[in-house]
Amino acid sequence: MQYIPAFSKLVEEFEKLPGIGSKSAQKMAYYIITSDKSVAKSFSDALLDAKQKIHCCRICQNITDKDICSLCADEKRDKSVICVVEKPSDIDAVERTRDYNGMYHVLHGLISPMNDVGPDDVKLSELLVRVSENDVREIIMATSPNVEGQATAMYIAKLLKPFDVKVTGLALGIPVGGSLEYSDSITLARAIENRREI
Ligand SMILES: [Zn+2]
Repeated sequence: MQYIPAFSKLVEEFEKLPGIGSKSAQKMAYYIITSDKSVAKSFSDALLDAKQKIHCCRICQNITDKDICSLCADEKRDKSVICVVEKPSDIDAVERTRDYNGMYHVLHGLISPMNDVGPDDVKLSELLVRVSENDVREIIMATSPNVEGQATAMYIAKLLKPFDVKVTGLALGIPVGGSLEYSDSITLARAIENRREI
């Protein structure tokens, strides 16, 4: 294939996206350059618009276009329970169970020494501030049941020991090595209901 710098650059950018391999990246790049100019324009506008308007919620670190997200702003939710998840899409998974009425905290990652991700690389200090400044009685560690998820849950449970707060983890039921976001709602609801102290 002939080398066209602008095309290679476009492929390279698509390849950076999670879950996109070089074949898919090439397909996307071909699609963009063979489509009408308006397609590329609305795509790049949407990228920049989302990036400019969306940021992390001041309280729970969920993504929002407001100062605080709709879940934190909801007066009917139980402020004394915080469910800790890895990423914003995990909130959707828990919300789909329609069984949980507490608050959330999004870590934006999992602690993984093997991948050079330490406690300071996730939104952990924000959680400690919330626990120390508010009347929180329970933290539910709902990180995925894989190695990093469990290690993160144990690490956070240890950090929270000095606080007067119960730390629980999801009950088994979610396949080990699986991801919260792909668990079915009934299994996840049961795992939350049968959570155990860690
Ligand atoms: Zn929030």
